[in-house]
Amino acid sequence: MLKITIHRGAHEIGGTCIQLSTSKTTILLDLGLPLSAESKKINVASFQPDAVLISHPHQDHFGLIEKLPPETPVYLGKLTKELIDATRMFLDMPLFTNNFKFYEKWQPFNLGDFRLTAYLVDHSAADAYGFLIEAEGKRLFYSGDFRGHGNKNKLFHKMITDPPRDIDLLFMEGTMLERNNNEFPHERAVRDKIQRIIARQENVSFLISSSQNIDRLVSAHNACVAKGKVFVIDFYTAWVLEKVKAVSTGISAFKWDHIAVLASGFKSGRQYSIMQKQRGRLGSFINNVFDHTIKEEVIRADPSRYLVLEKVSSVGRLVESFRGNKPVNVIYSQWLGYLSPSNDDHHGAKAMDAYKCGDVPGVDFHYAHTSGHAPVEDLQKYAAALKPKMLVPIHTEYGNKFNELFDCIVQIADNQVFTLQ
Ligand SMILES: [Zn+2]
Ligand SMILES: [Zn+2]
Repeated sequence: MLKITIHRGAHEIGGTCIQLSTSKTTILLDLGLPLSAESKKINVASFQPDAVLISHPHQDHFGLIEKLPPETPVYLGKLTKELIDATRMFLDMPLFTNNFKFYEKWQPFNLGDFRLTAYLVDHSAADAYGFLIEAEGKRLFYSGDFRGHGNKNKLFHKMITDPPRDIDLLFMEGTMLERNNNEFPHERAVRDKIQRIIARQENVSFLISSSQNIDRLVSAHNACVAKGKVFVIDFYTAWVLEKVKAVSTGISAFKWDHIAVLASGFKSGRQYSIMQKQRGRLGSFINNVFDHTIKEEVIRADPSRYLVLEKVSSVGRLVESFRGNKPVNVIYSQWLGYLSPSNDDHHGAKAMDAYKCGDVPGVDFHYAHTSGHAPVEDLQKYAAALKPKMLVPIHTEYGNKFNELFDCIVQIADNQVFTLQ
């Protein structure tokens, strides 16, 4: 008998935590921080799992692991751990001290009564997985967050042409149920738009994107290579790329050509002092990176040569200082929902919204983004391929709509104990 409890995630995007228990073993699938401050709280201390599996390095899937007892094993991908550490390090926060263990893609492993296999998936985070879970004679699959239109789309096609068989229950994410991806149906379309913008830029262009959206960094870099521009990143992003390069042959071409690291301004000063503190961890990177730095005044001398990666929170000062006779491009390359009024705590969102509305002379706003999540058509292909006996909505605000779009829906509410026998 297998007991299922969704602690959070049946009715919202992010903050996912699913408990699976046999009489002897309890595991958690993800232990995320909710994206909304209004989300209900969960009492992690009361769960007492034998192990926790983390699907990928997004906060809404791992953000609460620090609430676990230090001895509880936390399983994750090796690169996931590196990327979580990178963020903590550059925020000058102590690294998590959980009892980390690593799984390998496609290699089954046992946790008490459970046998698990991690399936690498295409998502906006690197090192993202779904899990096949076998226990008590049942076969479950947890989709994690996934899509079929990024640079790893082969993984999606592999999944729908050669899916795991005889699935009793599928937890499938439904982030995109009321959203679409029509304007940029794949990562290639994003790259093409960035390329078109920088090809005709007369002043500098800023790209607003997450440093951990590796597909997006690759797109921006490829666009720069194609158009003879230089992609300017910060120390943190350079370290993220260093970690990704170490495990991914796919981006081995992502060397130091057409890339520079901005080494002036407040942010870089702060990152520099953090790097001094972390010399031991950073090893030879700290020397290598200084061979590829660039100062703001060099960009200012010939700004149309550069595409500068920035954050919503820090781009304002740079935009102001480059604004002049020729328009500055601001290429917004993440979810537009971050600019909505409900997200006004997102520092700098109001200024970004003013660029978007065309209220700031000398700034041309562009949007170029594709989702990290599968649109409905791909969710339908996925569900049809896995043919689960029960399909349980997760990571969605529209669980009630699943019935109209998919077969065999079983909605399990947050905190409901569901027995699979
Ligand atoms: Zn998520
Ligand atoms: Zn995610």
